[in-house]
Amino acid sequence: MKPARASVFPRTSLTMLRVGHCTHPECFALRGGAWRTGIFPALVGLIRHPSAGAILFDTGYSEHFARATARFPERLYRWTTPVTLPDSECLQTQLAAHGIAMHEVRYVFASHLHADHIAGLRDLPRATIWYGDAALRGARDASRFARLRKATLLDLLPDDFDARRCAVEALPRAALPHGWRELGGGFDLLGDGSLRAVPLPGHARGHYGLLLRHEDDREYLLAGDATWRIDGQGNATASAWPTRLLADDWHAQHDTLTRLRRVLRDGDDSCCILPSHCAGSYARLPDAMRGTR
Ligand SMILES: [Zn+2]
Repeated sequence: MKPARASVFPRTSLTMLRVGHCTHPECFALRGGAWRTGIFPALVGLIRHPSAGAILFDTGYSEHFARATARFPERLYRWTTPVTLPDSECLQTQLAAHGIAMHEVRYVFASHLHADHIAGLRDLPRATIWYGDAALRGARDASRFARLRKATLLDLLPDDFDARRCAVEALPRAALPHGWRELGGGFDLLGDGSLRAVPLPGHARGHYGLLLRHEDDREYLLAGDATWRIDGQGNATASAWPTRLLADDWHAQHDTLTRLRRVLRDGDDSCCILPSHCAGSYARLPDAMRGTR
């Protein structure tokens, strides 16, 4: 195995978008959560890179989710987690408001293949799609019912997915900056150290986060579903037991959460973790980084 490269950390620009949400009782997802219905936004990272242009971290929901869950047994998915996608939150509408057309998105990073993270891939016709190799192999090897049980809908992958996909494991390894050493190493997506895929195993097979340095010099880990919520005191909430049914590896998920908690505990204010479904984390972002109006 080649040693990970130490590298500089060029800055990019990060804006978070809310692209729909689902609802379910908080206690189904969050350990110690209430019985009340919680709103879980699908957060998407819009990254602007000085030379690579517009890049997305995940896609959130889209109308393709409704189509992919129209029939049984997939329809059970939308019954379990009812989805709302206001017109104003559609990815195309929001990117247009930021001066970006869908065909201008050059890369999409799929943290994992759960439907709420990749439902918009079909609308990004020219994007190279970064993904975890184990995620794709696991999904393609599973039966239709096994995939559904793991919230994966292969119909959401574009017809030309195989021509546009790029497994992150095929890219050069990269060391992580000091504050993130608990998480091990990563993969250098663009070869300049600006975007590093970070393995966050457990929640789903081939689950990755994305580490970048924003214009304000703070370092952000877009953590996907490695934790559902981080509160105002910087505590990452553990998952409730029903999510065991969804998890790829419950023990690995717990280990990943422990590592994230150490980053939060030991890191300084420049290390920020953004879970994909945490409304509080979104609300605490600086105004300029909250792109959904
Ligand atoms: Zn997930």
